[in-house]
Formats: sequence, structure tokens, C-alpha cells
Amino acid sequence: MTALKARIAELIAAQGPISVAQFMALALHDPESGYYATRDPLGRDFTTAPEISQMFGELLGLWCAQAWADQGAPKKLRLVELGPGRGSLMADALRALKRVPAFLAAAEIVLVEASPVLRQTQEARLSGSGANITWKSHFDETLADRPLFLLANEFFDALPIRQYVRRQDRWHERMVVVEKGELAFALAPIATPPGALPAVRADAPEGGVFEIAPSSLSLMEEIARIIAAQGGAGLIVDYGYGEGAGHGETLQAIHNGRFADVLAGPGTADLSAHVDFVALKEAARRGGAAAFGPVPQGAFLSALGLSARAAQLAKADRGAAETVQAALQRLIGESQMGRLFQALAVAPPGISPPPGFER
Ligand code: SAH
Repeated sequence: MTALKARIAELIAAQGPISVAQFMALALHDPESGYYATRDPLGRDFTTAPEISQMFGELLGLWCAQAWADQGAPKKLRLVELGPGRGSLMADALRALKRVPAFLAAAEIVLVEASPVLRQTQEARLSGSGANITWKSHFDETLADRPLFLLANEFFDALPIRQYVRRQDRWHERMVVVEKGELAFALAPIATPPGALPAVRADAPEGGVFEIAPSSLSLMEEIARIIAAQGGAGLIVDYGYGEGAGHGETLQAIHNGRFADVLAGPGTADLSAHVDFVALKEAARRGGAAAFGPVPQGAFLSALGLSARAAQLAKADRGAAETVQAALQRLIGESQMGRLFQALAVAPPGISPPPGFER
């Protein structure tokens, strides 16, 4: 048993079963042994769009500048990225934004990163960018006093989810317990009060699973409140479902690039779950913002001019033409990231849709 697994087992022995969300938070962020707290998983357990190509961050940076210009180019703004990984997206965005010096001059840049290891990687990566960047371990109210331009790629899928299982027309929360010395799932014996979960899910079949990410929803609502009050725009890109979630579970573990048992090695495997874009969108609207999409990543990047940018890069460096073409395909290919990944935009109410979300 790993040290973290033993500590989680002790915690459960002392205080009783823990929720799947609490298990996820410990497995990912425990300061001593958490998955993100102790390592840089990018490129080993998973590869993200900004690591595939510089084009991704460039286009997302310019997306912010366009949204900013469309709102009358306010003199002060905050550019925030949630969960910046290796800092590649921001490095590429800042380089592209040199073409829009007024945006950079107005911008305070804040990276929200929980992992000390990744924060170091980001600092090293961005030290040459010339931009004044500050870091925060979580999103808080100090980010509420100016227009907010916010980017989050593969961030929301890492936030903790709770799971509920349908049994005889009631919902029971799925908990983590200790059984014969090992971590195991078990249903809470007492059903969750009916009013606590969305009524629309009540048609779930016996054994159906309902997942909800409470911290994702409250964060989205907070971001939306700031954007509605101050102006700005938010762009969330992630894998997940754009139409009503099904009744299956989506929590998954990846260890050394392969699917693994969720409970087997807390701290050694990446844990993530499909992002429920419908729920995120509702949260944004509760916060008073307008929400657009989700649109498939392929369609979104194509609308922003990905192919033209790829052609430009291939022309500038003919030796790289094949690599650029392959990256383009990975980002927009229907069977690659183009459809599974989706983009959701949040904007102040009453303005026209941001770039890539026009109908
Ligand atoms: N956006 C990057 C990295 C995605 S991995 C990319 O596309 O390559 C998820 C990132 O979110 C990591 O940087 C991880 O450390 C960070 N993260 C996960 N949960 C977090 C939380 N609760 N608060 C802040 N950062 C978090």
C-alpha cells in the first residue's frame, strides 16, 4: 500500500467513509503525495492541445484580444489562466499577443496553479516572456475588480466530482470505504433527500450514475459573476459532453498513459471525469453571464483560422511542414480531439457572441 493510500485508509477508519470528491482531492492534491502536487504528468500520462502545437495557445490568446477589442478595449484587464500545466499555452498566447500591444499594456496576468511543481515549470517557461505574471494557488475574490479574460484548458476535468447511484428510485452517494484492508467503493446506506439532486435525472435506470462537480459549478458561477459585472470573456476547453449527460460513470484513472483502477494508487494516477458542459453553462447563467456553445474543438479552432496559421508555419519552415500538418489533424480530427473536446464561452449579457461562437 502506498503511503497516501495508507493515510486515506486511516482517515476513513477515524472519520468514516469519504466522498468520491474528497478522495479525488486527496489523490490529486495531497501536499506530500498528491498526483499534481508531486509531478509534471504532461506528456507521460496525457498530452494536451498546447503541448501538441503552439497554434493552440496563439489562437486562444488572440481570441481574448478580439473579445477585448469587441468590448471597447478597456484600459485595464486581467488575463487569467486556470491550471496552466507547463505554461505552454500562456507562452504561446503572450507571443501572439505582441501583435496587440495595447492589450498587453492593459493586462495584469495571473496564473492559477495548485501544484508547486508545475508552478516552477511555468515560472521557468515564462521567465523570458517579458510579461509581469503573478501566481495564485486558487481563484479568489481579488480577481473580481477588473474585466476578466479567462482561459482554462483541461482544467475542469480535474476538479472533484461526487457520484450518486440510483437504487430503487432513490439516489445513494457513492463513498470510499476500507474493506479487508483495501480501499473500495460502497453506497451510502441512507438515500440522499430527493430535493438535493436535479429532478430531471429521476428517469435514471436502476444502477444509473449521476455525477456532479460542486466546486466546478461554484467556480464557474463566480467567474460568470465577475465577467457580467466587469466585462471580459471566459473560454473553457475540455473533454466532456455537450448534451445531457448519460447515466454512466465517467471518473477515470490514467497511470503511465494507460487506464488504471481509480482506487488502486491514489497519488500515482491521474484522475479526471467528463465535464458536464450543460451544467457549467447553467452555472454561468446563474452568475448572470451569457454562455455560448459548447462547440466542438475542431469547429472552434477552424473558425479561428487554424488552417491558415498552419499553412503559414509550414511555409516559414518547410522542414516542419509534416509536423504542423500532423498537429493540425490531432487538434481538429473528428476521431482525435476535434469532437471529444469542446469549447464553451462566457461573456457579459447582451453582447454579440465571441469569435468562433457565431451561429
Ligand atoms: N492547461 C494545461 C494543463 C492541464 S492539466 C494544458 O492544457 O496543458 C491540469 C492543470 O490544472 C495542472 O496544471 C494542475 O496542476 C492544475 N490543477 C488541477 N486542479 C487544480 C486546482 N484545484 N486548482 C488549481 N490548479 C489545479
